[in-house]
Amino acid sequence: MAAVMAEPGGPQERLDRIVRLIAESMRTDVCSIYLRRGERTLELCATHGLKASAVHAARLRVGQGLVGLIAQRAEPINTAEAMNERGFQYLPETGEEEYHAFAGVPIQRLGAVLGVLVVQNRASRVFTEDEMHGLEVIAMVLAEMTELGAFLSEADADVAGAHRRPFYARGVSGQEGAAMGVVHLHEPRVAVQNPVAEDPAVERARLEAAMEALRGEVDRMVTGDLVGNPGEHRDVLEAYRMFAHDKGWLRRMLESIDRGLSAEVAVEREQTAARARLERVADPYLRERLHDLDDLANRLMRKLVGDGGREPVPENAVLVARNIGPGDLLEYGRKLKGVVLEEGSIGSHAAIVARALGIPMVLQAAGVAAEARPGDVILVDGDLGVAHLRPEDSVLAAFREKMEMRAQAQELYESLRDKPAVSLDGRRIALMMNAGLMTDLPSLESSGAEGVGLYRTELQFLIRSTVPRRSEQAALYSRVLDAARGKPVVFRTLDIGSDKVLPYLQRPEEPNPALGWRAIRISLDRPMILRMQIQSLLRGARGRPLRVMFPLVAQAAEYFAARDMVLEEVENERARGRPVPSELRIGAMLETPSLAFAPDAFFREADFISIGGNDLKQFFFAADRENELVRRRYDTLDAAYLRFVDLIVRRCAEAGTELSYCGEDAGRPLEALALAAMGVRVLSMRPASVGPVKSAIRAARLDEARAVIDAALAEGAATLREALTRWAAEAGVVRPG
Ligand code: PEP
Ligand code: MG
Repeated sequence: MAAVMAEPGGPQERLDRIVRLIAESMRTDVCSIYLRRGERTLELCATHGLKASAVHAARLRVGQGLVGLIAQRAEPINTAEAMNERGFQYLPETGEEEYHAFAGVPIQRLGAVLGVLVVQNRASRVFTEDEMHGLEVIAMVLAEMTELGAFLSEADADVAGAHRRPFYARGVSGQEGAAMGVVHLHEPRVAVQNPVAEDPAVERARLEAAMEALRGEVDRMVTGDLVGNPGEHRDVLEAYRMFAHDKGWLRRMLESIDRGLSAEVAVEREQTAARARLERVADPYLRERLHDLDDLANRLMRKLVGDGGREPVPENAVLVARNIGPGDLLEYGRKLKGVVLEEGSIGSHAAIVARALGIPMVLQAAGVAAEARPGDVILVDGDLGVAHLRPEDSVLAAFREKMEMRAQAQELYESLRDKPAVSLDGRRIALMMNAGLMTDLPSLESSGAEGVGLYRTELQFLIRSTVPRRSEQAALYSRVLDAARGKPVVFRTLDIGSDKVLPYLQRPEEPNPALGWRAIRISLDRPMILRMQIQSLLRGARGRPLRVMFPLVAQAAEYFAARDMVLEEVENERARGRPVPSELRIGAMLETPSLAFAPDAFFREADFISIGGNDLKQFFFAADRENELVRRRYDTLDAAYLRFVDLIVRRCAEAGTELSYCGEDAGRPLEALALAAMGVRVLSMRPASVGPVKSAIRAARLDEARAVIDAALAEGAATLREALTRWAAEAGVVRPG
């Protein structure tokens, strides 16, 4: 095969030579190569045995016929009687009716199917295991060659795998904003220049040496030499070690080398298989393990190719990856113009970090990591949740215009920065910002927010591998208050559990983590963690005013128990002669419907209440905020939800307790208007939302909005979205769309 690559001739001649070579060496009547054209189509690109006139004419959809099924499932098919096989579809233009035996394997690379390799025989027979393995190895080499563009002519430039066509990915928005830049791959795929082993002995030795180094590294991780005491992390690392020492893994790779593959391709072959399995596994534990294996394969690959595999981060980089952890994303920090992930969800940590950094982000952009090449131009539309890879000129021009308009809107927001959010009918709304990292604090100044309405203290815990010491926590809180320069900051105590998992906190396996041991429940069951945090907050405050609130309070008693702990710690500090806050306000987050029905005493006693709409909505509608299948069906502007908000507003008003709203929806202009119209006077949101929300409030009469809501409710509307959208457009408050 290496020889074929080196011989002169165009791409078509190469393909023709390859199919002939395979047919001759395997003694089959037919050998054909189908390559992917676009997302959904496979085209017969070369054949030995079928009608030559069918080449570039015969096409199948992915999923159609046996060839289409192989591409769809990324699995081989081997049958003595093709016609009896489920899904068989006869392509008359190829003249394949006389062939009974059929074997096909996907041409794939790291989870992306680029085509299908097929052999067929007149006589009915099943191909041997050895033959199938041989086909698979050839398919690996073909995949590498396809990626290198070996089969591309100019006219063919849109054959999939070419990575030259424009590629459009529709996902979901992780963080709004628009960015234009060039692709930077988080886990760059190594371009294997020579997929075929020149000397298997050399390749074996290279692989074994790399494996040795990898095992040493993993062993050191387990013993703690590399990352400090692994503690509860140990289980995970042990599983890692088990894989690294798995004899089957190495054996399969060595076998591939013996069959003529280079060490890199042998590693990739296993990785491709693991990813294919990953696609089919639903069990979260097994998925994690397969992710481990994938990660190990990446490390092994880096050992083989050296650090040359890592490219420096270019200017205007847009990070593209399957997924990324919050720590890795923070390391890139503001060097990134945008982030596009194949996986991830709105509530994931990576998304929280991207939001904190204000980096436009698109999540669940299927196929983008496989399609993107370093340096490709990419447009990130964080508002719509789409990414355009290698965009056409017209798309690029439209996008530039959009960015221009955003810049203009930004200017308007700038001009409002120091003005208050007062509606046309004279109601004053306090706009605060959500934060969680030191890097957020400069936004307090630039956004015009009046304070921090929600400081998520768990981020400091999440981005580390050990519990931050009391002195470290206190130092951070102190710096946050320094940076706030007297503006109020509401520190929310540790909100972990559910999707926010601390690797160093042992926790039980839970069937429903969102309904499980999390937030204040952990704090009350493990009071040492909360006490340590309260002490850190008191010390960090150094006598300044302090606001603290507890997450996910479901019962009044939980609030009182946690508040007692704070008050005890204040007394302890006082007794030690340390300064205590000049003013202390202790609040609760209302994130479960039950708290809205707590006794009056709770509403009177709580210093303030903040609606955590992200969680409240998921419990109100019984719809997992992390699950894209159900999350989007339920809307903040749903009539039932607004009625519920109304109830909370009234209970707080009766008790004279301050109420704020700090879920994501507070940052959407239309939703913010509705909440303000319902009587919520404090809204806390991402810094980037302060400008748009302020401009909407200043342009609106909230009494009008309330009248629209009341009228629609009285008419029995199921949702307020239409009525409010119409009103906002007519009143020129929020631009439609
Ligand atoms: C919420 O639930 O609305 C909230 C603000 O908290 P978090 O998103 O951190 O759970
Ligand atoms: Mg919450």
